Amino acid sequence: MHPLIDAHCHLDFPDFDADREAVFERARAVGVAHFVVPGTTRKRWPDVLALGRRDDVSVCLGLHPYFMDDHRDDDISALESALDERTDVVAIGECGIDARFEQTLDAQWRLFDAQLRVAKARALPVVIHCVRANDKVARRLRQLALPAGGLIHAFAGSPEQAHRFLDLGFVVGIGGAVTFERARRLQRAVAALPDDGYVLESDSPDMPLAGHRGERNEPARVAEVCRVVAELRAQSLEAVAAASTATARRLLGL
Ligand code: ZN
Repeated sequence: MHPLIDAHCHLDFPDFDADREAVFERARAVGVAHFVVPGTTRKRWPDVLALGRRDDVSVCLGLHPYFMDDHRDDDISALESALDERTDVVAIGECGIDARFEQTLDAQWRLFDAQLRVAKARALPVVIHCVRANDKVARRLRQLALPAGGLIHAFAGSPEQAHRFLDLGFVVGIGGAVTFERARRLQRAVAALPDDGYVLESDSPDMPLAGHRGERNEPARVAEVCRVVAELRAQSLEAVAAASTATARRLLGL
């Protein structure tokens, strides 16, 4: 089968320290051949960049809205310096808005905007974490008109919201959420996407699939996501693997 790409997995996290090589091996055994690891905090960037030395890993650098306590004012200039130094970084991210955390929303927007400006200035794609904020984020992206688009990672919205992001030059990331039977609206969105509108991802160690609640997620499960997506789209596994891999390569320049 066509090799799969896990377009979003946090393989730098300590969750994988004990068996990282085995995690890569299990993924390869089911056809997941390339891994995109995003940055989350400045403190974690060195581990992300170290993984990026592998041929089968591509990396992004960014400041995640979930970890607002970890971010400092000079992190954006540190991001600029890191990007100057490591020209193999494929995107800015993971950045974005998580509206579940209302008390930090203003600070989240300031940090997100600053990273969008870096992405725009460098013509890099952005990897966006967007929870309960699809409409506001889409509006901001329309104002900014980013030249290289990006990925709405772990997309969980409606068919209409998906198409709005596609119109802005973005693609959506499809992961474990689509495997849950109650995810009807998301499943409708996935069925209606164009072939070049999505990538597959695990978000490891988070976002377990149906039947794996409470377990650590890992990139091998992208093969299972591929199977569910193929079923929803009434396409062959091969077609979904080829399309999602081609889209990840195009978006991130892999
Ligand atoms: Zn993530």
